[in-house]
Amino acid sequence: LEGHAGRSEHASSDEELRAEVVLGGRVLHASGLSDLVWGHVSRRDPEGRGVWMKASGLGFEEVTASDVLLVADDGRILVGDRPRHSEYPIHTELLRARQDANSVVHVHPRHAIALAASGRPLEAFSHVAGLFPAGVRCYDDAPGLVVNAEEGVALAGALAGDRALLLRGHGVVTVGASVALAVTTAVMLERACEQQLLAEGFGGVERAFTAEEATRAYGHTLTDAHLLSAWAYLVRRVEAAAGG
Ligand SMILES: [Zn+2]
Repeated sequence: LEGHAGRSEHASSDEELRAEVVLGGRVLHASGLSDLVWGHVSRRDPEGRGVWMKASGLGFEEVTASDVLLVADDGRILVGDRPRHSEYPIHTELLRARQDANSVVHVHPRHAIALAASGRPLEAFSHVAGLFPAGVRCYDDAPGLVVNAEEGVALAGALAGDRALLLRGHGVVTVGASVALAVTTAVMLERACEQQLLAEGFGGVERAFTAEEATRAYGHTLTDAHLLSAWAYLVRRVEAAAGG
């Protein structure tokens, strides 16, 4: 569906953009990143009108194309007739700050929340964690909802140029050049956090790799192609589960 980032020569139609958001949510759900009806994935509108994201009150697996809204930077709903999530500024402000990104994921994954609560750093000692060789920073100033531009801007400042950020007491955000990359990054971050919890059960990580060691060992995980091959698999799984 979307192997490449950014704007293509032919503009995506509204329905194609909505389909990307629906699929991103299905993959997040199938990967265990749902928190009932909370969490969202967005797609930048290529015409600069705002962001495409699902309506509030629905689980990722319930969303269909008509439930995906076009939300302007000021929160107005430009397309769609359902209520929007109050946390839309996460998407509008992160995408405003990150012109390299076209998609933002904000979810409340169980293991990532638990790791952030522990105050321990994410350590790269597996291939899946190799995507984050220097770990993932933790932001302390958004345990509650991020509901205005000021809070969104502060969050964007904390994310800076990174691909992921833990929000202590809340969840995670990830960004990517496409829905595929932002979603797969979120999936891998949660798997890395779960893996670390297992290591804790064995007594903890005896010796963490330095960022340099992790980059040397896991450098192959840092390409878009690596993430997109995982994404393609996740999409096939969703389609198989849907009987498609
Ligand atoms: Zn949230």
